[in-house]
Amino acid sequence: MRLLAGTIFDRPPRCERCDELEENCRCPAPEVKRVPPQKQTARISTEKRKKGKMVTVIRGLSSTENDLAVLLTRLKTICGAGGTVTDDEMEIQGIHIDRVRQELQAIGYRVRE
Ligand SMILES: [Zn+2]
Repeated sequence: MRLLAGTIFDRPPRCERCDELEENCRCPAPEVKRVPPQKQTARISTEKRKKGKMVTVIRGLSSTENDLAVLLTRLKTICGAGGTVTDDEMEIQGIHIDRVRQELQAIGYRVRE
């Protein structure tokens, strides 16, 4: 008896990006090389945006070495504020240097201001 018959495990594996069978997939390998937080330094600063709004900017963490989307979500929750990530830069609305520093250090990052 085949326990997995009819489940997703019964189908041949397909690429998540191009939906080709994995043996036909020509997608480039994802360039993810995770680096331990202890070996990275985040730089936190505040900047003024249009209409005088202040934002907290986190630089120095590469998107190829970190899951910045996950990190941003965590920081947004901690700060109770909105935010965006573009390339290697995260931005939280408002001034949250202390909270961002504490959270990044709790994860293990080195932090510079
Ligand atoms: Zn593919």
